[in-house]
Amino acid sequence: MNNEALRCLLCKKPKCALQGCPVHTPVPECMALYREGKLEEAGAMLFRNNPLSAITSQVCDWKQFCYGHCVLNVKQVPVRWYEIEQEISTAYLLGHELKRESDRLSGKRFALVGAGPVGLCSAVWLYMDGADVIIFDANPRMGGVLRYGIPSFRLDKKYCDAFETMFEKAGITFRGGVEVGRDVSLASLSAEFDAVLIGAGAEKPATLRIPGEERAVQALPFLKDPSAFDLGKKVIVIGGGNVAMDACRTAVRQGVETWVYYRKTFENMPANPLEVEEAKADGVQFRVFQAPVEVREGGVVFRDCENVQPEDGGRVVTRIIDGTDHFVECDTLLTAISEKPDFSMFSGTAAVMNEWGWPSVDDSGKVEGLPNVWVAGDFILGPKTVVEAVASARSAFLAWQATN
Ligand SMILES: Cc1cc2nc3c(=O)[nH]c(=O)nc-3n(C[C@H](O)[C@H](O)[C@H](O)COP(=O)(O)OP(=O)(O)OC[C@H]3O[C@@H](n4cnc5c(N)ncnc54)[C@H](O)[C@@H]3O)c2cc1C
Repeated sequence: MNNEALRCLLCKKPKCALQGCPVHTPVPECMALYREGKLEEAGAMLFRNNPLSAITSQVCDWKQFCYGHCVLNVKQVPVRWYEIEQEISTAYLLGHELKRESDRLSGKRFALVGAGPVGLCSAVWLYMDGADVIIFDANPRMGGVLRYGIPSFRLDKKYCDAFETMFEKAGITFRGGVEVGRDVSLASLSAEFDAVLIGAGAEKPATLRIPGEERAVQALPFLKDPSAFDLGKKVIVIGGGNVAMDACRTAVRQGVETWVYYRKTFENMPANPLEVEEAKADGVQFRVFQAPVEVREGGVVFRDCENVQPEDGGRVVTRIIDGTDHFVECDTLLTAISEKPDFSMFSGTAAVMNEWGWPSVDDSGKVEGLPNVWVAGDFILGPKTVVEAVASARSAFLAWQATN
């Protein structure tokens, strides 16, 4: 037994679960079962609440979630619940056989667009409640970012494989290599199925909008298949988020001199600070206060930046310093600025789009104008986290379930 479990106070109103965790993981209940050695029971409880518990316990920024909200944080060291969750959930998931638990949704047919976290957890909940489920994904295999984005040195692919095996045994149909909007229309899915949930993620890369940008390689295609790229001897990664950290850590593992250039400071980086430290430990080098202004043959022109405190005492802003252009050589430039969803599958449908071109939705993700279509995860939240994708899929599932 992990002795961390003995330090848990089993709070009656657990902040870790109620405030810290987007899916409200029942920490004290599972901790109590774990202490009694009832691992199977604890595993079932975690899986029912969050089928991706074995994965989120590894990839969550736990300082932001459970660990950061542990009541012991005030005077002592918080409990590392995520370690115990990983132990329980991994043992439960690997080799698990999905069973129908009720016939509540029996006879209902449900189409899921995307086999990322949204698709995987929704398929589990729907199947357990008796529905017939079919999943469409543009990629040949299941997992979304879990398989094609997060590198295997951070998340073993056996977790995605476990879902594939489990779904195959349960008779959940997976149609890989099918892009909704191109190979099959959203309108036809909406007509054929009782409901459609779109969890198509956010894969469209944001651009730097600088001359020569077409010479750069986008981080997501690189992470999908790093071996397909000849990086040369030196790589520069532009960006300060988790995607940039995964890209630089993957590049440096190929024996390439790897630099991250970021326009603000380390404190401003949206990446998990632990990831930044691990990238440094891997040998990645960093330069901050550097804004790219042009990509040329053999390198990038950067301009220095600085933080400026406005005279009115407002928020510090980062500004580019004119006259500081300098050319930095590199063989490959990887860009990881940000990503956004691709809503082209809605064209020609009656979906109501808001003034920013995003689908108009209610709290559960139900799309206005379409009678039976929901959206969840990065597709409607923008680039977020695995656990937040699960939470939003749960809202959609509960709303749909309530009306059926
Ligand atoms: C490199 C990287 C590292 C990350 N690291 C972390 C981390 O450490 N921790 C964390 O919590 N979060 C991390 N995230 C964020 C997290 O992975 C996402 O928030 C999460 O995967 C979103 O789940 P999703 O189901 O909404 O979308 P996705 O995982 O993006 O899955 C979407 C799926 O939809 C499919 N699809 C797209 N369009 C279509 C279409 N038209 N037809 C059919 N299928 C389609 C795609 O092929 C994909 O399989 C990371 C993201 C990236 C990119």
